[in-house]
Amino acid sequence: MLPAHASPTQQSLRQKSFLEEVIQNTPGDCRLLSCIQCGTCGGSCPSGQDMDHTPRAIFAMISAGLRQEVLKSNTPWYCVSCYYCMVRCPQSVHITDIMYTLKRLAIKEKVYDDSKAPDFSKSFIEWVENYGRAFELGLMSMHLIKHNPFGVFKMAGMGMGMLTKGRLAFTPTRIRGIDSLKAILNKAKELEAAA
Ligand code: SF4
Ligand code: SF4
Repeated sequence: MLPAHASPTQQSLRQKSFLEEVIQNTPGDCRLLSCIQCGTCGGSCPSGQDMDHTPRAIFAMISAGLRQEVLKSNTPWYCVSCYYCMVRCPQSVHITDIMYTLKRLAIKEKVYDDSKAPDFSKSFIEWVENYGRAFELGLMSMHLIKHNPFGVFKMAGMGMGMLTKGRLAFTPTRIRGIDSLKAILNKAKELEAAA
């Protein structure tokens, strides 16, 4: 940690190190340095409204060395790994992978502000681990009951509309080959623990 009176050169080194840390902790070439700040990712993101910073803003903050602000942000936790931003990014930045890196760093340092967003992410992963896909109705219901019980009534109208139009399923469905997926996930956990 640099002292508060650090020189601009020292600050610059500190900022560079956070950018480098994110790049080095992201598997493969994440292309973060290629980001042109176009904002396409934020405009495409289905969770954008819940994020306190858009992915574009998060990448600018990483470049600016705002380590604490980035790691405290709820943005990575609301990323549901849909990969839509990555499909649309003109620079092929590995946005979703960078979100995972930020989550790992935040967990390591226990710096996120509240448990709502991490809980959301944990529930999402549990559904995927058990069924091979997310179950939106179960995910949202469990999250709202735990963190915002009155929100259940607020969302009920929209939920019913989506259910009747067939945009939401009443029950979760398990993918074929769930055992193979579980074997892959277990192997990934083993490799992560050994790293
Ligand atoms: S879409 Fe790609 S290039 Fe544009 S702001 Fe997002 S990460 Fe950067
Ligand atoms: S992968 Fe994450 S950041 Fe990208 S559009 Fe989907 S939810 Fe948003």
